[in-house]
Amino acid sequence: MTLTNWAGNYVYRAGVVHHPSSVEELQELVAGSPRIRALGTRHCFNDLADDPAALVALDALEAVPEIDEDARTVTVTGGTRYGTLAQHLHPAGWAVHNLASLPHISVAGAVATATHGSGDASKNLASAVAALEIVGPDGTLRTVRRGDEDFAGSVVALGALGVVTRVTLDIEPTYDVAQEVHVDLPWTEALAHLDEITSSADSVSLFTDWTGDTIAQVWRKTRVTPGYALRTDLFGTTPADGPRHPLPGIDPVNCTAQLGEPGPWHDRLPHFRMDFTPSNGDELQSEFLVPRAHAVAALEAVRSLSGLVSPLLQVTEVRTMAGDDLWLSGAQGGPRVGLHFTWLPRQPEVEAVLPTIEAALAPFDARPHWGKLFADSDRDLARLYPHWDDFRALVARTDPDGVFRNDFLERHVL
Ligand SMILES: Cc1cc2nc3c(=O)[nH]c(=O)nc-3n(C[C@H](O)[C@H](O)[C@H](O)COP(=O)(O)OP(=O)(O)OC[C@H]3O[C@@H](n4cnc5c(N)ncnc54)[C@H](O)[C@@H]3O)c2cc1C
Repeated sequence: MTLTNWAGNYVYRAGVVHHPSSVEELQELVAGSPRIRALGTRHCFNDLADDPAALVALDALEAVPEIDEDARTVTVTGGTRYGTLAQHLHPAGWAVHNLASLPHISVAGAVATATHGSGDASKNLASAVAALEIVGPDGTLRTVRRGDEDFAGSVVALGALGVVTRVTLDIEPTYDVAQEVHVDLPWTEALAHLDEITSSADSVSLFTDWTGDTIAQVWRKTRVTPGYALRTDLFGTTPADGPRHPLPGIDPVNCTAQLGEPGPWHDRLPHFRMDFTPSNGDELQSEFLVPRAHAVAALEAVRSLSGLVSPLLQVTEVRTMAGDDLWLSGAQGGPRVGLHFTWLPRQPEVEAVLPTIEAALAPFDARPHWGKLFADSDRDLARLYPHWDDFRALVARTDPDGVFRNDFLERHVL
């Protein structure tokens, strides 16, 4: 069996991938496995999901979302993709608070790595989790709910606590979003007015290759209310005269509608459409989450490395997110700015520059995105997470024999 991740830069070493068709079958499988890991939609760029022994995917479990209108929640199987969830929620009059750049990823896989969209007031996708149903190492099914003692450590859990069979998410009434792109934001304006720019819409992304005097594109997504109007002036930018792809030279056909045309949240919040390949497809990714107070200094630090970074880069995306209290979340403890790198598929060269970027961002306590490429050369992540030891204790208590451990966890976390 040769199974690769979405980007094709990682070949899973697992000897077998199981696809149980019921939770009972899954429970028996886990109970009988000395080592096993949950696999989502394979969108991570590293070995986080892998284990040489066995993997289990939930794509054969029936995935009909259950909406509880009174509680304002929806419950889905862990393997459900956000795009599939949206197709159920929107016609029923409901929505989730935000989405990542693509709708193709599974809910449990996204939540496990603290996947995020953008928005000063918008928390990571994991913040919408109200409850998780988890198959533990002995095959027992347990539910962890918001408010439970272990909850804050169990949501962004990197697959270390078991297989998440069902996730209950907060929902809200459905809403429309309009997406506008502005081009050529002067760097001087971006650095002087960063807060005003990122708060100018519900979700804002800046796309740059770090060269020149301007940031190439500013994507702004606004919840449409009666007073909504296209923004013509934005700190020296020009409104784009047609649809844009974030990567230079790529047809925007796979991007969600722009030019301020209102549409349902799930057709605007992701940059990329469900029925098309997201991003480029031929790429690698890294991302570092920096405390918001250091945003400008961190941007300046990376910009000073443009001679090293830009030749390997397709594009950088700068996003923001509100803080949360989930122990291993990139935004635990306060708001963050995300500095994301879509790299050319030249992994040895990318891996060679990552330590330099991480050293430049170390003074700002930058946390790497768990699902993307990072170096962690000094094995120094513990200092970035106040609840690091709490998480390790939680893993030791819930999985004492290490059924869900793997090389990634041994290397970076446990
Ligand atoms: C094109 C592209 C765009 C992206 N855009 C964004 C973005 O906008 N924002 C962002 O933050 N990230 C983004 N990412 C990264 C992506 O969201 C994360 O890597 C996410 O974890 C992928 O989810 P997955 O279902 O593919 O998980 P996988 O890669 O399959 O697994 C990830 C982790 O989740 C665990 N896991 C999966 N399913 C379960 C389960 N049922 N129970 C327990 N643990 C489970 C695995 O064990 C593993 O630890 C992007 C990735 C790609 C390829």
